[in-house]
Amino acid sequence: MNDVLPEEMGRWHRVEQIYARTMSLYGYREVRTPYVESTGLFSRAIGEATDVVEKEMYSFVHHDEPLTLRPEGTAGAARAYIEHNVHATEPVTRWWYGGAMFRAERPQRGRYRQFYQLGAELFGDAGPGCDAEMIDMLVQFLRELRIPDLKVLVNTLGGPRTRALYRDALVQYLTPKIGLLSETSRRRLTTNPLRILDSKNEQDREAVRGAPTLHDFLGEEDIAHFQAVRAQLDKLCTPYTVEDKLVRGLDYYTRTLFEIVGATEKLGAGSTLVGGGRYDFMVADLGGPQVPAIGYAAGLERLVIASELGVTDKVIDALVAPLGAPGCLAMMEGVVLARDLRKSGIRCEVDTRGTSLKGQLRRANTLGARMVLILGEDELAQGTVQVKDLDAHTQEAMPRDQAIRNVVDRLMAASRSVDSRPPRETT
Ligand code: AMP
Repeated sequence: MNDVLPEEMGRWHRVEQIYARTMSLYGYREVRTPYVESTGLFSRAIGEATDVVEKEMYSFVHHDEPLTLRPEGTAGAARAYIEHNVHATEPVTRWWYGGAMFRAERPQRGRYRQFYQLGAELFGDAGPGCDAEMIDMLVQFLRELRIPDLKVLVNTLGGPRTRALYRDALVQYLTPKIGLLSETSRRRLTTNPLRILDSKNEQDREAVRGAPTLHDFLGEEDIAHFQAVRAQLDKLCTPYTVEDKLVRGLDYYTRTLFEIVGATEKLGAGSTLVGGGRYDFMVADLGGPQVPAIGYAAGLERLVIASELGVTDKVIDALVAPLGAPGCLAMMEGVVLARDLRKSGIRCEVDTRGTSLKGQLRRANTLGARMVLILGEDELAQGTVQVKDLDAHTQEAMPRDQAIRNVVDRLMAASRSVDSRPPRETT
């Protein structure tokens, strides 16, 4: 579990802002669900025989109630959707979320025990159009983050009938080869055989090489759905690769499944940025109405590492620099001056430590301040302020009110004052 220090937060905010903007462009609204849910919700929604439920959940019992720190966001969103009877008020629901998830995994680059996801869920549309639109929306978002080497992988798992038929065929195929399988896969042969296809173990890969593929068992409607998703992606000119061994770790998926990989050089084995898919039966399985759904989650840390966007490192626009000992009149006036500058939208700090002018100028530099407003004894006596522009290399004494206007004008002219715009890029 990591600390994220202020120096890194600029990059995080950048990614989060672009995500929130993308979501609003597509009509998604933010939802916030609790970090703790009842343990049963996850075992029902994600599946008992998955890695997440079997060994990665932080679970505890509180007053006889089994609880778990959420390992992912979809189960909680589906629970909230059912609990608030949302389907009765709107036919289609688009929700997005962001926040911490918890999984007791072995930490490595891009894999942590507390990590952040940005995700979305779309309830109430079973059609292929929204599957393709969701994938394309993610590609647009990731391109805006300037993530290199993006690759979209898609697959279809068919419906529950296909899954059951395929499961039997796979077990039949692998049972004679059981001696070749890794210990985990041997266990999975009875608990969750589809996951064997996901195994990175060389022996397992060898054993499944000639296995029947799920595509051989797809029903007509499943095939038509997948073809329509692909046709829509083609129409959107969104490049993708069909990866028929893609199954992903969570049990709830049906039909469309996708992953987006990127920045492989930086992220190596952890370069899967987004994973998602359709889960048409989860809402009903959790006791809600039969409402189809599709969703995904992206790992925020991975997006931050992968993004090649530059961010500004300017913390403030102006530094108020009173000269004298702490508590002197210049100091007191300085605090008031800083407040008045902020009323004009200037991000500023006032240095009340009683340091030398040299020390204060050094601080202005560190914080990226362009303007320094110096208040010494002479200025106090005359009701003036020295306005120093570190970019233009000028310094001028002027009456206090004029000084504020001057600072505002200079910063506005250079578009460097704080307003509602996102920070400027430096690359
Ligand atoms: P999942 O919820 O397993 O489908 O994962 C979706 C995305 O969340 C992955 O593609 C990763 O980007 C991210 N992710 C999953 N687990 C972790 C983790 N332990 N640490 C960091 N990111 C993760």
